Amino acid sequence: MRITVIGTGYVGLPTGVGFAELGNDVICLDVDENKIKTLQSGKLTIFEDGLEELFVKNTKNGKIKFSTSFSESIPDADLILIAVGTPPHPITKEADMRYIKAAAAELAHHLKGYTVVAVKSTVPVNTGNMVENIIRRENPNADCDVISLPEFLREGFAIHDFFNPDRIIVGANTERARNVIAELYAPFKDKSTILYVSRQSSETIKYASNAFLAMKIQYINEMADFCETSGADIYEVAKGMGLDSRIGAKFLVPGPGYGGFCFPKDTNAMAYMGKFNGVDLSLIETTIKGNERRKINMAKRILDMVEDIKNPTIAVLGSAFKGGTDDCRESPALQIIEIMLAHEVNIKLYDPEAMPNTKAILKDMVTYTNSAYEAISGADVLAVLTDWDEFKSLDLLKIKQLMKRPQIADFRNIFDCKKAKDLGFEIKSLGRKL
Ligand code: NAD
Repeated sequence: MRITVIGTGYVGLPTGVGFAELGNDVICLDVDENKIKTLQSGKLTIFEDGLEELFVKNTKNGKIKFSTSFSESIPDADLILIAVGTPPHPITKEADMRYIKAAAAELAHHLKGYTVVAVKSTVPVNTGNMVENIIRRENPNADCDVISLPEFLREGFAIHDFFNPDRIIVGANTERARNVIAELYAPFKDKSTILYVSRQSSETIKYASNAFLAMKIQYINEMADFCETSGADIYEVAKGMGLDSRIGAKFLVPGPGYGGFCFPKDTNAMAYMGKFNGVDLSLIETTIKGNERRKINMAKRILDMVEDIKNPTIAVLGSAFKGGTDDCRESPALQIIEIMLAHEVNIKLYDPEAMPNTKAILKDMVTYTNSAYEAISGADVLAVLTDWDEFKSLDLLKIKQLMKRPQIADFRNIFDCKKAKDLGFEIKSLGRKL
């Protein structure tokens, strides 16, 4: 199949590479000329585990190409995947649809022959109707079906999730479009459920799923707080809860709050849709508020450990919103850092992959280091804010020798608390017996 992916970001690039690996002819199209030039020169623009190998293979054998030209990329496509951003509107926090609208209007002029236009971006309910109307307005003769094909990949596992999807949701109103999608996902038909629903249901499934997962994280974070006051251990509690198949074991890990490009914006967008439609979505609104409070609370817990020191130095490990990605968008780590910076502290920071993205946001507000131990050296407190595997193998004894004061705020629960205490550390962690 000839596929054009519009938007070559954290979703579009792994998706394009994945479909090329399955034997399709893929063009990844983006308006960002620098991004396309970088990709054309054989370099990746994002970090994703397993992406590089497939990217190199499929660019070399010509199965995937990169372009900024709609006129070159659209006419021959059997399927167009729209994967542009839908960031939060700065004031209302609803999904900002300007990139979707621009992509729909531009692609409409170049459609040739029957084409399926699939919206992969996370979009409000009834966006399919809007895209269809834009295409009809711009090109009344276009022969196309607009469908909803939401993306569920997890950053850091994008390639794994592409080849092992839990489910494929297809919101398509015509048989013709469903047949194209059935052919596209034929390699997955024995290992994944393909669910055909209406376009509106498909669009809603994406938001309803992300809002539910965000609530689950906020819930386990609240339970972790409760464990700290009750003597229970959050891991024992989560294990006991997760054995109930109605609850499920995943997403029951406490942390410094959810972040990333999806959960914060999708919960806000869903809350906005509820308000707009006159529906009470107070569970989601409470989740959003709780998650905001959590980051302030995390910053305060760290600051409390250095309140007696003038201009203390805080070593921060991790700025990506989670391990396995260089994505810092809405990262709890960065938000916690920004809150702490208002309190006259020095911050030494290290992240294995996210330093370029972090520098673009924090500029010269912190000191950047080249390793975890360099960040830790001379610090009054060590704060672990991202769950990189690399941090789990750090040597506590060496950390103690490097630090000015043996204090750890372990908000990813990577260290053995007993071992740390035996070595003389003061350690704060989440929801565990100390
Ligand atoms: P991104 O910002 O990484 O990438 C979007 C790309 O679209 C950018 O490269 C941008 O230049 C390009 N673009 C914008 N307007 C364009 C246009 N008119 N024509 C061509 N290209 C254009 O965003 P992302 O993280 O890949 O997310 C894309 C969508 O997928 C969003 O709706 C997001 O909510 C959804 N989603 C993201 C994830 C995730 O983990 N990041 C997971 C599931 C769904």
